[in-house]
Amino acid sequence: MTDPDPTDPGTGGPPGRARLATRLRVGGATDVGMVRDANQDSMLLADGVSVVADGMGGHAGGEVASRIAVESIEASLPDPAERALRVLDLVLAVQAANDHVWERSGDDPHLAGMGTTVVAAAVVVEDGEERIAIVNVGDSRAYRLSGGHLDQVSEDHSYVGELVREGRLSPEDARHHPRKNIVTRAIGIEEVVDVDEFQLLPRTGDRYLLCSDGLTDEVDEDEIAHVLRTVADPDEAAETLVALANEHGGRDNTTVVIVDVVADGLGDRAAVPDDEHFSAHPDADTQGIDPVTGAVADGGAGGHTAGGDTVGAPRSPRVVTVRSLAFVVAVLVVVAAGAGLAWNQARNTYVVTIEDDEVTILRGRSFLWFEPTFVEGTDIALDDLPRADRDRLADGVDQPSLSDARRFVDNLEERIADFTPPVTAPSSTTSTTRTTSTTTSTSPTTTGSTTTTTEATAGP
Ligand code: MG
Repeated sequence: MTDPDPTDPGTGGPPGRARLATRLRVGGATDVGMVRDANQDSMLLADGVSVVADGMGGHAGGEVASRIAVESIEASLPDPAERALRVLDLVLAVQAANDHVWERSGDDPHLAGMGTTVVAAAVVVEDGEERIAIVNVGDSRAYRLSGGHLDQVSEDHSYVGELVREGRLSPEDARHHPRKNIVTRAIGIEEVVDVDEFQLLPRTGDRYLLCSDGLTDEVDEDEIAHVLRTVADPDEAAETLVALANEHGGRDNTTVVIVDVVADGLGDRAAVPDDEHFSAHPDADTQGIDPVTGAVADGGAGGHTAGGDTVGAPRSPRVVTVRSLAFVVAVLVVVAAGAGLAWNQARNTYVVTIEDDEVTILRGRSFLWFEPTFVEGTDIALDDLPRADRDRLADGVDQPSLSDARRFVDNLEERIADFTPPVTAPSSTTSTTRTTSTTTSTSPTTTGSTTTTTEATAGP
């Protein structure tokens, strides 16, 4: 392993930069796999933050969603040259990514219903102490290899992940479950997203792995741990893991980012035994709560699982004074115009919703004495829907025209097909044309690491 680069992000680097003792070395690889036509994963190895995103949605949707998410996270984070990052910065950056994907999905009917997972890692400072922060939404995972032992840090927001947590399914059975790819939380699917966060003490020699489910569905944890223990270079280890996923079938896109802690500045505390630094996954009641025990635990910032509730200042009461009749008339005109707009909206909107346990297109919404009218049914049953879609469709999703509503349903169908590929013929699920790689990578000069796309590592 080479010496840490003094210009690494989050190190003691150039003047003006936040001076951190923790030094990282980062590498990554991404590949379309052996079956799919397009790589809908994106990764980011940027100044101070590493991200893996696994996009979902028909046609270009998944690629667009994962790319918007990583670009948005990078753009939303404060410049690490200005100040050290905090966990809240990461959480807010992921929530901003949700805003961007959600808005784009609403603006462009071709992208309606797209979404993406996100898992990110960065060095943060909390209570004057440097920590590794992990944030995630969806089923892309973060692991830590410490003392040769591999632990999953993140929790999967997935259908089978919930069954495992409830004790109704074993982790091994979950890997082969036909519904293993249904996520219960994702970026861009709802207006507000809950973000889980975890904080761990950085320790020299620890290695963090961020990956899409293309890796964990194909390669078991023992094999992953073996590669992480034996291949020192982070780029090479990432490429090896991607190649292994392809050897095992490569039925999905695979993305791997490896973050090595090459210096920690912990001094004597680094000698604390492994299990005192890390506890297993938080249970459902404590999601987002710091899993680090000991020194870090009582300083944990807790969860930021309330979405927009954590953002913004309290509102002060507002006083409106009516000064003249003209003002009242103006208000009445505005109210009448608003009512007209609402009426128009209620009658001329197409609403994709759930009727009789089936996804259905209606015209209009309930308004005064009007009731929505049935337009057409679909083949999508309520049971086929991921929970996030169920909640959203229960409220109804407005579309400006019938063709937009149908396109929305088409995208929904494809996304469900992506989630549940037929076990016998996975290749039949892909019908999209291959487009350019969605890999995003920046500033290898400042990370002191290289970014690798593995078009060359293993192709279809
Ligand atoms: Mg995937």
